Amino acid sequence: MQNFHYTNGQLCAENVPLSRIAKAVGTPVYVYSATALAENYQAFANACEGMGALIAYSVKANSNLAVLSLLASLGAGADVVSGGELERALRAGIAPQKIVFSGVGKSRDEMHKALKAGIYQFNIESSPELIALNDVACALNTRAAIALRINPDVSAGGHEKISTGKAENKFGVNIDQARDVYKQADSMAGIEVTGVDIHIGSQIDSLAPFETALLKGLDLVRDLRRDGHNILTFDMGGGLGIVYNQDEDTLPSAADYMDMVSRHTKGLDLKMIFEPGRAIAGNAGVLLSCVRYVKHGTARNFLILDAAMNDLVRPALYGAYHAIMPVKEPMSDQTETYDIVGPVCETGDTFATHRRLSVMQSGDLVAMLSAGAYGAVQAGQYNTRPLVPEVLVKDDQFSVIRTRPDLEDILKQESVPDWI
Ligand SMILES: *Cc1c(COP(=O)(O)O)cnc(C)c1O
Repeated sequence: MQNFHYTNGQLCAENVPLSRIAKAVGTPVYVYSATALAENYQAFANACEGMGALIAYSVKANSNLAVLSLLASLGAGADVVSGGELERALRAGIAPQKIVFSGVGKSRDEMHKALKAGIYQFNIESSPELIALNDVACALNTRAAIALRINPDVSAGGHEKISTGKAENKFGVNIDQARDVYKQADSMAGIEVTGVDIHIGSQIDSLAPFETALLKGLDLVRDLRRDGHNILTFDMGGGLGIVYNQDEDTLPSAADYMDMVSRHTKGLDLKMIFEPGRAIAGNAGVLLSCVRYVKHGTARNFLILDAAMNDLVRPALYGAYHAIMPVKEPMSDQTETYDIVGPVCETGDTFATHRRLSVMQSGDLVAMLSAGAYGAVQAGQYNTRPLVPEVLVKDDQFSVIRTRPDLEDILKQESVPDWI
């Protein structure tokens, strides 16, 4: 994985041994490489150089303020899906003019906040949402720039829970209804129609579904322009997949993806917007964990870690694969097959089954790879396990970018009514 390598027998993040971080911060802990984040962003930026495109990093993939600030410093915009994410993006120094607001259920409050901030574009997903935004914009005596998120009825995405572009998904406006909704939008005093938006899913491993959706979207752009709409922007959404399993995956690069897009959009006079999340953050981070016990059962051997499904839910939620590496470089060929699990009281709290690893002992450290996206952001406190902290590494330095709350922090948010 990028910027995570063995040096002197120790798995390092850039030039920091993970064991040093474990010692200083404790485990479990997320560790991100600033260099990998920057390189992944830059791969997109370089690939669309000269296109005048906006790369709006999908904040929900990894929303830590330090991560956002780093990307902001490189010129990234943001795709946000809540008022909370909007606040994060603004505090990280991302210019409002580089922020797009997506999501099927924006509240009026969130719309108000985003209009006040002066964001670039709302991606609108239904006619009722459009009506609400018009109300809010009119009350503020302004106009909201919108793109309609079109559901192109394309099957894509590594898992049914992250496929969003099929007609039966909750997302977007059916492409056959789109022209009517655009017409409705055009008649609204608080709405300025500016673009078309698609986002068909996540962890997409080939260009074909993107291309199909893009072509459908561009047909719509032509229709809309013929209908008299001033379509200026085209938002491709996110969804480009990453390698989770070195042995199996081959994936198109950001450059391959951009080549395909620019081939079809050249000369159309559209400002392109891209919303990569996973492709920027995913392979820039690991979840570092410690083996608590090695349990030799009758049917299986279990590695019981101190990390659990509440810290990284992807295996339990999506059946996701994460490569797992011992932090101490294996010095012999001796291996053992393990089921790798957490301490939470759910059978679903399993990171991997039948995984061959060097022989492990209690106290050994392991890293779950490709955990930089949809890891920490989806963490919870199930089983009253404190939220997992985050560390950012740059070269031979590291900083804690989110601390581990102590038990008091957690318990003080709760209260017992005096009638008990
Ligand atoms: C989640 C999401 C993204 C990012 O998806 P990735 O697969 O992480 O690139 C982009 N746009 C929208 C609207 C999303 O919901």
